[in-house]
Amino acid sequence: MLNPGWILRRFESRAVALARSAGRVPVSSCAESPVRRAPFDRLACPVGFPGRMLVLNLIHAGRWLVGAVAGVRAAARALEAEVASGRPQRAPQRAGEPFWAELEDCARSLGINAVGYARVPPELVFRDMAVLYPQAVVLLMEMGFEAIDRAPAPAAGREVMRTYAALGEAANALCAWLNRRGFPAQAGHPLGGAVLYPALAYRAGLGVQGRNGLLLHPCYGPRHRLAAVFTDIADFPPPRPLPGSEAARLEALCDSCWACVAACPTGALAKDPVPRPGGLRSYLDPARCFPFFMTHLGCSLCIKVCPLSRPGYGLALREREAGRKEAAAAQG
Ligand code: SF4
Ligand code: SF4
Repeated sequence: MLNPGWILRRFESRAVALARSAGRVPVSSCAESPVRRAPFDRLACPVGFPGRMLVLNLIHAGRWLVGAVAGVRAAARALEAEVASGRPQRAPQRAGEPFWAELEDCARSLGINAVGYARVPPELVFRDMAVLYPQAVVLLMEMGFEAIDRAPAPAAGREVMRTYAALGEAANALCAWLNRRGFPAQAGHPLGGAVLYPALAYRAGLGVQGRNGLLLHPCYGPRHRLAAVFTDIADFPPPRPLPGSEAARLEALCDSCWACVAACPTGALAKDPVPRPGGLRSYLDPARCFPFFMTHLGCSLCIKVCPLSRPGYGLALREREAGRKEAAAAQG
């Protein structure tokens, strides 16, 4: 029987073989890809795959689902061209300072809301997968609040699929932009992917790790999708960590909230972090989450209930604390 991971795996297998043969990131990993790990047999239905999940997705988000899959396919093809170009064998070149501002302008013009920079730790590359290059430009794209607030209604699923498609297109376009300037690049599509994106985005300083397994960004909370473009450039920027007070504020809220734990219909979120292979710790059990995620158009309940998903909530927290500090200083 075919299953929902089939499309991703089909394009993935050749890409992984190429990346493993030409990649500069040591293959030593531990985290398991949710796409590979998920018990797809639980999704079995009389007509097998496409079955219930595909029918639902096609009815409600067909255009975006097709767009997202086309993006995964385009990324796999671009990877083949990248390996054939010989760029993975070349020594890293300098880009010069104005280049990074231009890259961020380009990302913004493609609809990206936040950009971060991180080295790719081998332990974040999923087991048996690989990427070509050791540096990641991490890309975050917001999902619309009104649609996500209707989860698990189809409107939320449509928004999830729309964002996968748009962000995948943006990652592929940024990859091509780097190539046109002579730099090596591999697009990491948001759907599937070879790297644990929330942990990578955390290392890039884009936010903190939430109890729902997602990155909590100061403005968008977990209401976003993540992708990356992998590269190797001599003067790659260092990560820009969140200010300590900002990170502490988000973590303190998350430590006392647990709304997502209560809302998750599958019990996939733990109150305390669970050790995972390779020294990773996580609140999320992908084996419980993923079947529901796939059959409910991206689910999104744990995003909907997070207070940080509300537009302006994170900024209001920041202002409230600044006000408290000012008041304390005035008194003291
Ligand atoms: S996506 Fe749904 S099933 Fe998965 S952790 Fe969030 S609420 Fe639970
Ligand atoms: S819902 Fe609450 S506990 Fe869950 S990620 Fe958001 S802030 Fe953290």
